[in-house]
Amino acid sequence: MGNIQLQGVTKSFGETTVIPSIDLEIADGEFVVFVGPSGCGKSTLLRLIAGLEDISGGKIVIDGKDASDSPPAKRGLAMVFQSYALYPHMSVYKNIAFPLKMAGMESPAIDKKVRDAAQVLNLTDYLERRPGQLSGGQRQRVAIGRAIVREPAAFLFDEPLSNLDAALRVGMRLEISELHQRLKTTMIYVTHDQVEAMTMADKIVVLNKGNIAQVGTPLELYHHPRNLFVAGFIGSPK
Ligand code: ADP
Ligand code: MG
Repeated sequence: MGNIQLQGVTKSFGETTVIPSIDLEIADGEFVVFVGPSGCGKSTLLRLIAGLEDISGGKIVIDGKDASDSPPAKRGLAMVFQSYALYPHMSVYKNIAFPLKMAGMESPAIDKKVRDAAQVLNLTDYLERRPGQLSGGQRQRVAIGRAIVREPAAFLFDEPLSNLDAALRVGMRLEISELHQRLKTTMIYVTHDQVEAMTMADKIVVLNKGNIAQVGTPLELYHHPRNLFVAGFIGSPK
């Protein structure tokens, strides 16, 4: 579970082609980072995988099944939105329980899942609070908790830490890496931050104008950038 293949995936908005054609295989359990400058198509690619946007051509295969036309809920993936996507009027407990309630799960089963997720994320003491009564880092953990309870085949993160201050960002980066080691679930993480890419990824996908400039481990990209774009983005210390 958690193998994702993009086969000649394209995306246009009207006349504008944002993703000319992408081939990519993400292995089960891999931590893959999509990195590139603003506007290069990172969010669009993630949204295509999630099913929040329709592909214009090609194929998306998830765990051996053609998911190109599947609605988001059928893909078994969980998108982690920035923490401001929490429901402000609901407790932490209810925020995390929400997707399970929507899916029609019974309360006792929901309760177990919410408490297990809270334990993993160090939120047990905060379940009755509202998002406004939490720190930025705690709010981000609630957003992750809401994804965890669904036991997805993969987690999709779109710049989840960009709202946090620099110090908190470093801590959350470690927390997400630790979560990946614990759950061993596929994670796709979008960022424009080279340091995040270098420190978190098993595999980095560098995007430039909707094309893959290079795919490789952080060390491969650092030592053997294929071109000046990759070198400028990853290879050279800033
Ligand atoms: P990134 O996340 O790397 O900053 P995006 O995927 O958000 O980039 O955007 C890539 C390109 O696609 C940009 O030029 C953006 O303007 C365009 N784009 C994204 N979404 C839409 C949309 N719904 N309609 C038209 N153009 C879009
Ligand atoms: Mg984006």
